[in-house]
Amino acid sequence: MPFQQLGLAPQVIQSVKDAGYTEPTPIQTAAIPVILQRHDLMGIAQTGTGKTAAFVLPLLSLMASNPPQHRGIRGLIMVPTRELVVQVEENIRTYARHLPLRVATIFGGVSERPQIRALQQGADMIVATPGRLLDVIRGREASLRSLEFLVLDEADRMLDMGFIHPIRQIVRLLPQQRLTLLFSATLSREIEQLSREFMHHPKMVEIGRRSNPAETVTQYLYEISHHAKMSLLSHLLKNEALKTVLVFSRTKHGADRIARRLESARIPCATLHANRSQNQRLRALQDFKNGRVRVLVATDIAARGIDVEGISHVINYDFPRHPEDYVHRIGRTGRAQAVGEAISFLAPDDHSHLRTLERFLRRGILRKKVEGFTEPVNTAAPRDPAAPPPPPYRPRRDTMPWRLRRSWKNKERFPPHHHSGDSSDSSRGRR
Ligand code: AMP
Repeated sequence: MPFQQLGLAPQVIQSVKDAGYTEPTPIQTAAIPVILQRHDLMGIAQTGTGKTAAFVLPLLSLMASNPPQHRGIRGLIMVPTRELVVQVEENIRTYARHLPLRVATIFGGVSERPQIRALQQGADMIVATPGRLLDVIRGREASLRSLEFLVLDEADRMLDMGFIHPIRQIVRLLPQQRLTLLFSATLSREIEQLSREFMHHPKMVEIGRRSNPAETVTQYLYEISHHAKMSLLSHLLKNEALKTVLVFSRTKHGADRIARRLESARIPCATLHANRSQNQRLRALQDFKNGRVRVLVATDIAARGIDVEGISHVINYDFPRHPEDYVHRIGRTGRAQAVGEAISFLAPDDHSHLRTLERFLRRGILRKKVEGFTEPVNTAAPRDPAAPPPPPYRPRRDTMPWRLRRSWKNKERFPPHHHSGDSSDSSRGRR
């Protein structure tokens, strides 16, 4: 079915043509007519299915065909991360290029002032993360009274990230009479509860099975010891066929460590995690998008919803602990009908997570052997019990953050072996 038959406004159809889309994706075909009829809608679809356009296109059409009665914010889109705010805003600007629409973004990690100014000057549509929006809106609650459209995008992840309280507080400020759309990659009891709380008899659109990762992604895994993971990663990256690679680490410090080792192996890469400033994160994403670096190392939360065209490979350096994370991670490749591969490293203590994942997916993941790779010998040999104990570890005082210096006396914060091993390290003090 062509875009023209969905009932969208002519200006919107024009911008879709400008973007080079020839026909709507399944979620767009299913969702757009429902939204244009002003039905609340719950969409179960993963990123990469075209779901952003599935809600932005009809909302823009509704706004274009019904000029506002009063000045004020007409649409609010809440998403879990800053990256997603920027990405959804970019999408809106693309699809609204033939419309006089003012969009504002609100997210943490940058100064509040320009965001407040944008609100005061009046925006038709706001894309925001819930926490910062609540801070910014305090004392300006009236600005949400004219709201007509609310979208909760990636609602499952917003719940995972503990945004339920700010979301509830914000929704309390909105008019009862509004159109509410909720998108989620998975359908859980919590999501159903949320839909009952915020929506009136929503229609449901579901694309793909609940736990079915993008069908175009080829998935396999390598069984590997912890100490050999880094060598395996460097070995794999020697292959030029791995053109655009997203590497997932479980922790922020782990991501930094992988990046440092790749840099020293002369493999340029960028990192994306919550300890980096907003500017650093945007630059990392930009470098990766325009091909300046071919490897992006990221944590689950930071990589949430990022949309980079043509990621050829996702590598799970650390095996995901939750099946949902696996589905989200591998959904970064194989987007919009492109072909992608997802490679997972399986360390000895990951087997129970693999079993849970395979049950969730209702399929097995292919085990492969790496050609031309032999595991390096673990040089960190177990300590001889007869040898004298090693001296206690003391971080250099000048590199120790002041708030940790105070707790330095508390030896439990710095167990003597804490600088060895390759597992989760988010509680470590020194970097
Ligand atoms: P999303 O699921 O919203 O993250 O979209 C994934 C990608 O698909 C984005 O890069 C969109 O630009 C692209 N896209 C969305 N709709 C279409 C369409 N109808 N045809 C081709 N590409 C599309």
